[in-house]
Amino acid sequence: MSTFNSAAIEEFKGVWVFCEQRQGKMMPTNFELLSEGRKLADDLGCDLCGILLGDNVEGLAAELGGYGADKIYVCESPLLKDYTTDAYAKVICEVVEEYKPEAFLIGATNIGRDLGPRCAARLHTGLCADCTGLAVDMDKYKQFLRDSSTLDVDGMKWNGEDRNLKMTRPAFGGHLMATIICPRFRPCMATVRPGVMKKAPFDQAKSDACQIVKPAFALAAEDMKTEVVEVVKAAKKLVDLIGAEVVVSVGRGISKDIKQGIALAEELAAELGGVVGSSRACVDSGWITADHQVGQTGKTVHPRIYVALGISGAIQHKAGMQESECIIAVNKNDTAPIFEVADYGITGDLFKVTPMLIEAIRSAKA
Ligand code: FAD
Repeated sequence: MSTFNSAAIEEFKGVWVFCEQRQGKMMPTNFELLSEGRKLADDLGCDLCGILLGDNVEGLAAELGGYGADKIYVCESPLLKDYTTDAYAKVICEVVEEYKPEAFLIGATNIGRDLGPRCAARLHTGLCADCTGLAVDMDKYKQFLRDSSTLDVDGMKWNGEDRNLKMTRPAFGGHLMATIICPRFRPCMATVRPGVMKKAPFDQAKSDACQIVKPAFALAAEDMKTEVVEVVKAAKKLVDLIGAEVVVSVGRGISKDIKQGIALAEELAAELGGVVGSSRACVDSGWITADHQVGQTGKTVHPRIYVALGISGAIQHKAGMQESECIIAVNKNDTAPIFEVADYGITGDLFKVTPMLIEAIRSAKA
């Protein structure tokens, strides 16, 4: 065990969020995690802090404060301009060892999924990957505080038990939700699925009150085994499912005429100002690219309107869309599980129903 993690659990205080930036642009998960982290920090009675790495990124910190951070630790160096596992893990571990947060949240983006386990291993602590729910149960802790103020509890020591972060994630192929704790080590680390936590409204007063801290760290070129030579953007524009207000998804129900099924979904999405999503069945069949996939192993969305065309509603699909504000399902089988979560269910052939929906929207607009 490292000397760091032999420190008493009570020495660890604060909820921290890794704030990811790419080429000076904030990732939306930062705001979701800070909003959720604020609730956890309030329950725990501690500070919420962000940690932001990059080159010349201090100017981005105030925005993070607007989502509830009390402090942002800003680590700047030309060596941190682009993400590399070695440099980011080294700096984060140094700062975490110095300030000892009790919980550390990271967005489960491609970068977060790489960075989180590396840091957890170095810090000799546990990480729960791909979480969809976070909570702390403070009941026992509050009882302890009550007892210790009224009883003679010489030597009685809080073991930190119920300051544990309860990290919930799908298990066994999504058939049950497991709640996991990390009782003996700190910080409790979690990567959190993008799009699951709700972003709070931006608060200018909180942003103004947010403190910027510049921690000391040592980083030299020799610490890095890789060098980013060039950042090349994907030639194809990926669909922004997570930020979309309307998602029209297709499932295996389009198999009769795949081209026509996708064209109908695109037309309906265009009428509603939305984007096209899909079930995994369509991705696995090669009918649509993986960036469209909604569900447990795809994206989690909660748009204002979610339309499911020819999707059965398997648990793994529902895991990614059931928090949508309004769900409209079209399926020819009236016992399809998608109807269990649908606000409006239409039993029928999607190739007949979808053109009628498009027409109805057009005439309503006219
Ligand atoms: P099906 O289940 O085959 O359903 C097709 C539906 O279309 C049926 O209900 C049928 O009645 C209807 N239909 C057929 N023809 C028509 C028509 N003409 N008009 C109207 N309705 C019609 N799935 C995901 O979607 N996302 C995930 O992220 C995901 N992750 C997974 C992770 C794991 C570990 C596992 C084991 C599975 C995962 N799956 C995921 C797969 C999931 O279990 C289902 O197999 C998948 O969602 C089924 O897709 P579907 O509803 O399109 O197809």
